[in-house]
Amino acid sequence: RGLYNEEMKMRRVKAISSPMVETLGLWSVILVATLAAWVILQQDQAEPARFMTVLVALSAAANSFKPLSTLSNTLYEASAAAERVLQILQVAVEPTGAEANPEAPRLARHQHTIEFDSVRFSYPGDDRSAVRGVSLAVQQGQLVAVVGPNGSGKTTLLSMIPRLLEPTHGRVLIDATDIRTVSLRSLREQIGFVTQDPILFEGSIADNIAYGQRHVSLAQIEAAAATAGAQGFIATLPHGYRSQLQADGSGLSGGQRQRLCIARALLRDPAILILDEATSQIDADSEAQISEALWAIRPGRTTFVIAHRLSTVIDADRIIVMEQGAVVDQGRHDQLLERCPTYRLLTRTQMQPLAV
Ligand code: ADP
Repeated sequence: RGLYNEEMKMRRVKAISSPMVETLGLWSVILVATLAAWVILQQDQAEPARFMTVLVALSAAANSFKPLSTLSNTLYEASAAAERVLQILQVAVEPTGAEANPEAPRLARHQHTIEFDSVRFSYPGDDRSAVRGVSLAVQQGQLVAVVGPNGSGKTTLLSMIPRLLEPTHGRVLIDATDIRTVSLRSLREQIGFVTQDPILFEGSIADNIAYGQRHVSLAQIEAAAATAGAQGFIATLPHGYRSQLQADGSGLSGGQRQRLCIARALLRDPAILILDEATSQIDADSEAQISEALWAIRPGRTTFVIAHRLSTVIDADRIIVMEQGAVVDQGRHDQLLERCPTYRLLTRTQMQPLAV
């Protein structure tokens, strides 16, 4: 909101300053002209020729005021930019309760359960809770689909696993250890997070998959891409893994971009994978590939998917249905279809149907 206000202020100054300088110039000319007319009429002293010269000189002078309007804009833009840089510099370092303690133990690779224990979360300044009293235990190796209307708290809930958000009340436990008591690095090293709008950068496909990892071989990159169902389309590109991408990944479909990011996450072999499925319509080919990828990435890890597709929930070991920050039901697809009205409505109205 702060940045939006800055932007609006800047636009306002820009919009006002130029007409203001123009008006200033115009008024000075009118003022001098009136003054000169008065002098001529009263004292019969000023010669009309000299009067004209002064007028012309004045209009030239008015023109030289013009750069002032751009100067004020430039100064304002620079100060707004400087303010933003300061804002970023002043952002508090992450909540590193355990990190501040060099003795904080490392979290061993997750192999039993992930548990939410009466977890509640409110965003600062919001008196409603985005997640209210969620208790849930997930067994290692499960694929858990989280569904619910927009704003029901799915992202908020899952953001607490890598401690991007800290519960206001309650605890998150991995293998019975409160994740606040272990080193943040050891926690995040074992989590892969694939967001809805995957970030790609200018560089080759291979660089994009290997991002953040040192010492990875092309064979490892190819293996990750194969598991993520990305190998097929990469092979059709003119330079394969060396094909250059634009910064926004343009030229690739939404489904292809997401598969690249799944490959990137897989290369780190995370014990926990969190995937926010693209809500946008993706082509049937991508849909099938991602569906297959979801099967292939399961072994050895626990996967959470914020699901927007019917194919995903049908495959899930367990579906968590959220509504207004609470878990209203959980189970498998058929069970929920039978007994949970919210789930029935969601499958009908908010989920991408099975591609044919
Ligand atoms: P979902 O992922 O199910 O769409 P979210 O977890 O994003 O839901 O949002 C849950 C609630 O929290 C919503 O009411 C939303 O408006 C609010 N919310 C989400 N992010 C923020 C934020 N950064 N600041 C304040 N409120 C937020």
